[in-house]
Formats: sequence, structure tokens, C-alpha cells
Amino acid sequence: MQTIKAIVKKTSTPEGLFLEEVPFPTISHNQVLIKVRKTAICGTDIHIYDWDEWSRKTIKPPQILGHEFVGEVVEIGSHVSNVKVGQIVSGEGHVVCGNCRHCITGYQHLCRQTIGIGVNMDGVFAQYIAFPAGNLWICDPNISEDIHSILDPLGNATHAALSFNVLGEDVLVTGAGPIGLMSVPILKRAGARSIVVSDINPERLKLAKELGATATVDVRSETLEEAMKKLDLIKEGFDVGLEMSGNGTAFSNMIDVMANGGRIAILGLLPQGIQIDWDKVIFNSLTLKGIYGRHMFDTWYKMSALLQAGLDVDVAKVITHHFSYTDFEEAFKLMKSGKSGKIILDWGDL
Ligand code: NAD
Ligand code: ZN
Repeated sequence: MQTIKAIVKKTSTPEGLFLEEVPFPTISHNQVLIKVRKTAICGTDIHIYDWDEWSRKTIKPPQILGHEFVGEVVEIGSHVSNVKVGQIVSGEGHVVCGNCRHCITGYQHLCRQTIGIGVNMDGVFAQYIAFPAGNLWICDPNISEDIHSILDPLGNATHAALSFNVLGEDVLVTGAGPIGLMSVPILKRAGARSIVVSDINPERLKLAKELGATATVDVRSETLEEAMKKLDLIKEGFDVGLEMSGNGTAFSNMIDVMANGGRIAILGLLPQGIQIDWDKVIFNSLTLKGIYGRHMFDTWYKMSALLQAGLDVDVAKVITHHFSYTDFEEAFKLMKSGKSGKIILDWGDL
């Protein structure tokens, strides 16, 4: 039997991930075979690596991980007409049912039957993958493959940053992880008047500044109120908030500094049971909107247009490291340390 190498969560035990030989994938009529060139590590992969509560509940080992990728189409299924052999592709990591009310009315991102590549089905951390043709995104050859390998999280940033009109508005981004960072140049292009970014990691805050943040706040030494006063621009609070930290305190502090009528997009995965001051949400007429994944495929079109207009130069700054897939263990450890932006695993040539 012909085999390929893949990064696998083998058993339902805390022991980590393994580089395994797995069967060469075969495609069905509506799938394509992709030779993987680059993959990127997402926070979700780290959750599985850590085998935390969410992973224990969600993952059914053995399971190949990964959903952020770029690769070359090497074979197409008999019913596939949207792509040709030889094209470079990335893809949407959420697979939807295609039949429900949301799916047939253009709101696939709201499908209740969504399953995640690398979460509920085998993922892209492999030399070859069988991928649903309907989830493909054909890459613009003028944009680098590095950028194409992180379209999925860039799509998260795009979806969140464009979920409210920010033209002339003051925006607070809590969390300068890769997604928070990538949202900064998008907010700038969408016309935000000021963009304030908070984190507890000085290196990431420095990068936020390079990407165009008006001000950054290390919340270990300064409050958001103090930062707002210093700016002397924002008089009544932030108009728009993007919660990108997944930290309960960050979210609760954000609620405190929103202007009345402020709008908050919540992308960070917040822990169960966190407390916020609901009086502030109600009496200050705040809008809270959960953001999951990308708007299919509206976000993909918007993101591509932004990249073609030069966003790729900014996004490239968020990619800080490359590793060979054989050194994935080292890459995962670095990602966990918080001392990196996006990390790419190169799968090279077979
Ligand atoms: P990340 O975990 O690398 O970034 C989070 C950042 O928040 C870190 O830089 C961290 O230092 C910072 N932080 C911690 N405490 C803080 C505080 N009190 N105030 C401000 N910042 C603080 O993650 P990422 O890859 O950029 O993703 C961001 C969040 O979005 C994560 O929670 C991730 O799980 C979530 N996520 C959600 C979706 C979705 O579809 N909703 C998709 C991908 C990721
Ligand atoms: Zn559906």
C-alpha cells in the first residue's frame, strides 16, 4: 500500500502528536487531490496538541490535524469543473451541508451541520489531501504562497473587521495574536479613525504598531481608560470593539470603555462562565455579535481584493517562522510560547 506522511493525533490520551505513515488518499467524484506545499499552525491545533477539555470532547482519534494550507491540484474528481490540474489552491476549512435554509440562501457560514477540516474530519497536515471541490479557493499567482497558506485566519480577521462599518470610527482590538494583528491593516483600509490594540505581550504590541495601530496598550501596566485619555481623541468611548484575545478580563474591560451604542464583534473563544456587567450592555445599548469562521464566500472575495491592493505586504509581517513539517514538534512549542506570529510548516517536494 502506498503511504504518505501526516501529523496525527493518534489516541484519546494526552500524549502529543506523531508524524505517521497513513494511506495515500483517494478522491470521490466531488473532491480534488492536492499536493500540500505549505500549512500554518492555528490556535485550534494547539488546543488539540494540549488535549484540553474542548479537544477531548470534540476530536475522535486517530485524526490528521490542520486546516490552513496551500497546495497544488494534482487530480480532480469526475464531477469537478471549478478547478484544473496544476492550479494552486487554498480552501475554506468549514464544510457545510449545502441543503439547509442557511446554505441555500447564501449564509453557509451559519449552517448548523458545519464540520471542520482537521477537527471533525482528516486535515491538511499531510503530504496529500482529498479536499471537497466546493471549498476550494483558487490562488492569485501574484500573491505569495506563504500568504495563501494563512487565508483561513486572515479570513477570520477580515470577517470580524468588516462586520461593522468602521469608517471614521474609533476601534479597540483586544488581543494582538495573529488574527488581532491582521485585523489592524484591514481596519485601516476600511477607514477607522483610530485603532487601539491591547495585549500583554510587548513584542506583539510592537508589531501592532508597525501594522498601523494608532496606539497600543499593555494592560499589565496601563488601563484602557488611561490609554484613551492619553490619545485625547476618543471622548466618549470606542465605537467598535473586536474581541480577539479569548480572555474574559479583556472582554469585560472592553465593555467598560465602549461608547453608548457601541458594537462589539467577538471572535476570541471565551472561557465558560465569564462575568460581564450586563447593565452596561443594556443601558449603554451595546450590540454584541459572535463571529465564527468566514462569511462564505463573501469574506474570501473581500480578502482577495484587499490582498491584490497591497494588504499582502502587511500580512507578511505576521508570518514570523518557517519549519519543515518534520520539525513540527519544535514549531508547536514555539507557537505555544507566544514568541511568534504565524508559523508555517513547509511540506516541500515529494
Ligand atoms: P492567540 O491566542 O495567539 O492570541 C490571543 C492574544 O491575546 C495573545 O497575544 C495574548 O497575549 C492576548 N491576551 C491575553 N490576555 C489578554 C488581555 N487581558 N488583554 C488583551 N490581550 C490579551 O490567538 P489568535 O490565533 O490570534 O486567535 C485569537 C482568538 O480567536 C483565540 O481565542 C482563538 O481561539 C479565536 N479564534 C476564533 C475563531 C472563530 O471562528 N471564532 C477562529 C480562529 C480563532
Ligand atoms: Zn447547511
